[in-house]
Amino acid sequence: MPAETHEFQVESRQLLQMMIHSIYSNKDIFLRELISNASDALDKLRLASLRGLAADAEVSDLHISIEADSTARTLTVRDNGIGMSRSEVTELIGTIANSGTASFLREWRQGENALGAESLIGRFGVGFYSAFMVADEVTLVTRRAGERDGTRWTSTGEGTYTIDTAVTPQQGTAVTLRLKAVDSDDQLHDYSAAWKIREVVKQYSDFVAWPIRMKDAGLEPDDGTDPVDGDAEAATEPETLNSMKALWARPREEVSEAEYAELYRHMSHDWSDPLETIRLQAEGTFEYQALLFFPSRAPHDLFTQGYRAGLHLYVKRVFVMDDCEALLPTYLRFVRGIVDAQDLSLNVSREILQQDRRIAMMHRRLTKRVLATVKDMMSRDPERYFTFWGEFGRAVKEGLITDPPNREAILAVSAFPSTHDTHSPTGLREYIERMAAGQEHIYYLTGDSRQAIENSPHLESFRERGIEVLLLSDPIDAVWVDQVNEFEGRRLRSAAHSDAEESSDSDDKAGRAHERQEEFSELLAWMTQQLGGDVKQVRLSTRLTTSPACLVSDEGGLTPALESVYRAMRQ
Ligand code: ADP
Ligand code: MG
Repeated sequence: MPAETHEFQVESRQLLQMMIHSIYSNKDIFLRELISNASDALDKLRLASLRGLAADAEVSDLHISIEADSTARTLTVRDNGIGMSRSEVTELIGTIANSGTASFLREWRQGENALGAESLIGRFGVGFYSAFMVADEVTLVTRRAGERDGTRWTSTGEGTYTIDTAVTPQQGTAVTLRLKAVDSDDQLHDYSAAWKIREVVKQYSDFVAWPIRMKDAGLEPDDGTDPVDGDAEAATEPETLNSMKALWARPREEVSEAEYAELYRHMSHDWSDPLETIRLQAEGTFEYQALLFFPSRAPHDLFTQGYRAGLHLYVKRVFVMDDCEALLPTYLRFVRGIVDAQDLSLNVSREILQQDRRIAMMHRRLTKRVLATVKDMMSRDPERYFTFWGEFGRAVKEGLITDPPNREAILAVSAFPSTHDTHSPTGLREYIERMAAGQEHIYYLTGDSRQAIENSPHLESFRERGIEVLLLSDPIDAVWVDQVNEFEGRRLRSAAHSDAEESSDSDDKAGRAHERQEEFSELLAWMTQQLGGDVKQVRLSTRLTTSPACLVSDEGGLTPALESVYRAMRQ
C-alpha cells in the first residue's frame, strides 16, 4: 500500500495543539504514557499466546527498551508486544477513539472547568499524544505480531500525519521522538539524558511487570574503571531500570503509600492519587491477594454505557485479564485495583469466570471489604467520607436495588440530604439518634431537586412538628425507596404517604379529625366526584399549615416521583 497523508480529526488537532503548546507543566509523564502503552501491548501478546492465539509470535523475551541518543536528540521507546496493523494505527492513533479524550476536549472548550488544564488532564489523561509535549516530530513503526507487513506513522502534530508500509524485523512497536530543543540551562527537561530517563522510569514505572531496558550509548566505559579486554561488551549490556516487583505481593510494611499511588495511576490511567487504598490477603484453601483503590474523583463516564468497570486479574503474578467485572458488583464499578489468585487457570475466559465458585467467593468477600472500608471512613474520617459519597454515592445506592443481601450494609454507609442540615448529608444512624421520643419511623420525601422538595406542602406538618425528613432528589432514590422498607428495625416511610401524618398524632387529635371529616363529608364527596378518576378520595388533612391542598399517595401506592420514573422508562 502506498504512503498516504491524512488530516487529523478536529478533536485530535485541538488536543495536539494543547500538547505542542504544552499546557501541562509535568512533562515527565509522557514517558510513563509510552511505557504504559508498551506494557499493555506486552500484556496483550502474552495473553494471546496463552490462549493459543499468537502461534507466529515471538514471546520468549518480552520487554521494553529505551534508546536515547543525545547527539541526534532522539528518544525511542520500543516493545516487542502485540503491535498494530495498518488499520489499527489509523483507528487508534489517528483519531480520538478514546471517549475520555473527547470529553476532555469538550470540557476544555466549554471552559466549564475553572480549575484549568492541569486538573482536566489529571482527570482524563491524554495518552499517546502527550509525546508532543516534548517532541516536534513523532514516528511510530509497528508490526502486528504474526503479520508480515509493518506500518510507519509520522507526524509533527500540525494538522496531518503520514502513514506508510514499513519493513521491520521485529514484531511490536517503536515510538521515536525527535526531541524539542531545550535551553542549555534547562537540563531538567533533557529527555535524551540517561540519568533523566532512569529517574523518570524509577519514579513512574518501577512496578511495570516487564523489564524496561536501556542501553546507555552516551556512557563511556572510562567512568573510573579501566576498560579491560573483553569488557567492551559488558559496558554496553543494557541495564534494567525497573524493579518489576508486584507491590501486592510484597510485605505491607515494605511498600509506601507513594508506591501504591503510583501503581494506581498506572493501571487506572488517572493522574491523581487514590482516595483510599485497600489491601486484602486471603489465605486458606483459596489464596489470593487484592489491592483495591477508590479514585478521588468519579470518572466522567461512570454512568454511561461505555464505562469499563472491573479489576485487573492476575494469576500468580501473571496478568490475565483487565476489566474483570465478575469480581465486584456493578454498583461498585468505580473501584479500581488488582486481584492476584493462586489457583485459577491462566486460560480463564470471562464466561467461565461468571460461573466460577471461587470467583463468586472473592466477589462476596471483596464487596464486604469495600463496604466495611467505607463504613470505617465514615466514622474515622468524615471529611474524606463525604468526598467519597459526593463522587460515588449515586452509584453505591444502585446496590440498594440490586444487592438485597447487602442492603443493610449499604444503607449503613449511605448519607442523605435532610431537613436537619442544609449543607451536609446525614447517615441514617445519626438520623435515628436525633429522633424525638414517639417518632417511630424514618421519614423521607422524594422529588426532582432539594428546592422542589423543600417547597412541597408535604413537609409543612413535619416542619411544624419538628420531625426530620430526608430529602431525596437523585432519580434513583425514587426507585430504591420503593424496595427498601427498613433500616435497623425502623421503617422508612414517605412523608407523602397518606398515613404518614398519623404516626405521631395523639388519639385526641385523631378523634377531632374524625369529627371534622364528618362535618365536611358532603363537600368531600362532591369533590371526589368532581375529580372523577383523577383521585381515589378527597379528605381533610392536618398535615398542611399554609398550603390549601396537596396530593398524597396510598401506602404501597406509587409516589409521584416513582410514577414519573416509570413513565420515563416506558417512553
Ligand atoms: P490508551 O492507552 O488510554 O488507550 P493511548 O493514547 O495511550 O490511549 O493509546 C491509544 C491506543 O493506541 C491504545 O489503546 C492502543 O490500542 C494503541 N497503542 C498505543 N501504543 C501502543 C503500543 N506500543 N503497542 C500497541 N498498541 C498501542
Ligand atoms: Mg495509554
